[in-house]
Amino acid sequence: MKALPSIQEMERAYKSSDASYDGIFYLAVRSTGVFCRPSCSARKPYPRNVEYYATSREAVFAGYRPCKRCRPMESNGATPDWLEGLLAKIDGDPSARYSDEVLRRNGIEPARARRYFQKTFGMTFQAYCRGRRLGKAFQQIRSGDDLDDVALGYGYNSHSGFRDAFSRTFGSSPGKSRTGDCIITSWIESPLGALIAAATSEGICLLEYSDRRMLDAQVATLRKNFHCAIIPGDNQHLALLKKELEEYFHGNRKSFTVPLISPGTPFQEKVWKELRRIPYGKTVPYEEIARRIGSSEAQRAVGHANGLNRIAIVIPCHRVVNKNGKLGGYGGGLWRKQKLLQLEQGQNLF
Ligand SMILES: [Zn+2]
Repeated sequence: MKALPSIQEMERAYKSSDASYDGIFYLAVRSTGVFCRPSCSARKPYPRNVEYYATSREAVFAGYRPCKRCRPMESNGATPDWLEGLLAKIDGDPSARYSDEVLRRNGIEPARARRYFQKTFGMTFQAYCRGRRLGKAFQQIRSGDDLDDVALGYGYNSHSGFRDAFSRTFGSSPGKSRTGDCIITSWIESPLGALIAAATSEGICLLEYSDRRMLDAQVATLRKNFHCAIIPGDNQHLALLKKELEEYFHGNRKSFTVPLISPGTPFQEKVWKELRRIPYGKTVPYEEIARRIGSSEAQRAVGHANGLNRIAIVIPCHRVVNKNGKLGGYGGGLWRKQKLLQLEQGQNLF
């Protein structure tokens, strides 16, 4: 997993167009929706408008499109000439279907394109298209009102755009499930990037960073566990979660009261329960968690269950570290783990 340099270092790097940082991080500009290499020659954005990503993939999944000037999706070195046209096409209409036949009609050999995306971007071509679709829909919502999710209810176009992309991506049929029991999902802005939250009528069942690769799989597990459709919206648990998260990110909340629904194997549930016992501001090694649940030889399984935690932050898997004091892993990216631990040490995230 790639960790990001410090914010000051990245700020200095992009302000001076330092090409030695190319590939180390990407900067995304909230006001324009574009992401760049640090060396980009475009006008330098204000730091408060910048988000940083370790990979171009994360920037894409967070809803940003590649800059036309510095072309951050292209690997350094030889770039196939078909790529730029294809990326522009997807960007122009991310909801279109790019079947093999469509690719061929555009003079692109599908197998080669698939290999190229996998090798260069670390994702399949379809995953890229899906990421752009979802990202664009999310961004439509964001452009309405940065923090106020209530805006969702008013902007019909963005709401339907979101639902559309969401159902395309996750295969649910939102309209039909309005009356039945369903999982309601919502978008939450945070100082660590956007989060996707989901809740049933019983409680929160998902809280995950929107750029996380596991998100698709997590949502699939949810649908399997709950046997119901997934639709965008809001309910009382999501409202409470948002309020408590905001307090948490401001350093004004040390524990969460929002009800959680997180079914797993008996072992996973034991691990997750143990995680919730780690006090705010404290860290515990994986070994110790294994010992506490009475299976000290199961450190690796503990690490695995930790990684499968679907409710980030509230089930504080970020408080589990390596024995040597190193951070260990974190599904949302090590820089986020570091920030969360710093926050709990009293540092201001804003
Ligand atoms: Zn650029």
